[in-house]
Amino acid sequence: MRDWEWYVPRVPRPRVRKTSCCGAYEFVCEGGEYVVLRPAKDGGHEETARGLYARTLAVWNELVSQHQCSRRAS
Ligand SMILES: [Zn+2]
Repeated sequence: MRDWEWYVPRVPRPRVRKTSCCGAYEFVCEGGEYVVLRPAKDGGHEETARGLYARTLAVWNELVSQHQCSRRAS
C-alpha cells in the first residue's frame, strides 16, 4: 500500500493540473515539485509521491488505472 500523509501546501497557490475520474485524485504542481492528492474524509487532502514530474506522473497513472469507479457504467 502507498503511504499517504496529511497535505500541507508548500507554496501559496498550488496549481491543480489534472483531476481524476470522480475527483478521486488531483495532480498538483507546487512550483518545481509535483504531488498527488486525494480528499481526506474530514476535509482537506492527503498527499503522496511528492517530487519530480516524471516520478509523480508515474504514480498518478498507477493510481488512476486502479480507480474502482463507484459510478455505474452507462
Ligand atoms: Zn470514477
